[in-house]
Amino acid sequence: MELHNGSYQIGGVEALQICRDFDTPVYVYDTEVIGRRYRELTQAFQGIRLDVKYACKASTNPALLKYVRSLGAGVEGVSIQEIRLALLAGFDPQRILYTPNCVDFAELREAVDLGVHINIDNISLLEQFGHFYGSSVPVCIRINPHIMAGGNANIAVGHIDSKFGISIHQMRHVQRIVDSHKIMVHGLHMHTGSDILDAAVFAQAAEVMFSYARNFSDLRYLDFGSGFKVAYRDGDVTTDVVALGETIVPLFNSFCREYGRELELWFEPGKYLLSEAGYFLVRTNVVKQTTATVFAGVNSGMNHLIRPMFYDSYHRILNLSNPGGTPRIYTVVGYICETDTFGWDRQLNEVREGDILAFCNAGAYGMAMASNYNSRYRPAEVLVHDAAAHLIRRRENFEDLTRTANLELDF
Ligand SMILES: *Cc1c(COP(=O)(O)O)cnc(C)c1O
Repeated sequence: MELHNGSYQIGGVEALQICRDFDTPVYVYDTEVIGRRYRELTQAFQGIRLDVKYACKASTNPALLKYVRSLGAGVEGVSIQEIRLALLAGFDPQRILYTPNCVDFAELREAVDLGVHINIDNISLLEQFGHFYGSSVPVCIRINPHIMAGGNANIAVGHIDSKFGISIHQMRHVQRIVDSHKIMVHGLHMHTGSDILDAAVFAQAAEVMFSYARNFSDLRYLDFGSGFKVAYRDGDVTTDVVALGETIVPLFNSFCREYGRELELWFEPGKYLLSEAGYFLVRTNVVKQTTATVFAGVNSGMNHLIRPMFYDSYHRILNLSNPGGTPRIYTVVGYICETDTFGWDRQLNEVREGDILAFCNAGAYGMAMASNYNSRYRPAEVLVHDAAAHLIRRRENFEDLTRTANLELDF
């Protein structure tokens, strides 16, 4: 978002015009940012066979999926529904990786029938899979390398207590199952959470992956998941993808030479591609002075953007309606009957009732985690492409709230 002659623009379109055209609350995505991120990543890894699998749980709007596909990316999905959405968006099944956790075997079979890559993250499923498919369907195995991702336990998924992946210490058990069912292991996968991807930690993770990989002879790809850090506030440490490429490309190439096959390296960025490409725009309903603070109460809440309340995450907030206003301190809250605070003590240009506020970094895990709590409608979504705004999901209406309910039963 840039300020041009006193008006905020998203991808060359005036943000306030988007609110006039599509109303608020509304999620707005800028394709230009997604494309730039994708190119930065692929350029940093020139010299190896890189495949970027967009982790679509960050946002599954079909138009966004189609845009990501047009860039040349594949998809990583965690539910059979995400897989079907990716297929609907036109992805080749062979560019899709299905990485479920704690699902029924029937869901894996459905994914096999759809022709996508299957990532298996526990021993009992691997055994069932081998029993059922033998060597006829290749698999990827998700390992837990036990590398502790610092910070938030909710988003650290590689540590000892994590429910994700098969421990590297269970290698012998895995090997027995693979050998006895003649399972074709085409890929190994690790995704250690959202907080660790700097070159040094990554090099350590890569060594764990390589030593594990030496136990398998049919590999085609090694998938290093995600963990790319993006900036939520000024001064945040971000993943330096150029430095990462410089470290990893030679390590990977030398492993491939040793292994005797040119493997593909896969990444699964969600946030990295989408977070900064998205904004969530809301209207201020109430400005309320209390003894402690000034609340700006907006026409949204934890039902639409839950990350601040769920992960304690920081989203920058801008007042789009009053860019020249005197900066003052506000606590921005939602309209849900819960304590749904978006941000305490934020300095914003003076907020008046009716002003439009923007939450930054809203492209990933924003709309995807929205709910109907308090029986509110989920917001509309707009995609800005080539300086034009397109509605890519309409706002819900009252019929949407009752569509799945039984309205016949009465007392
Ligand atoms: C969530 C997830 C990702 C994406 O994580 P980001 O932090 O959004 O980049 C990648 N791979 C798997 C398996 C995931 O569950």
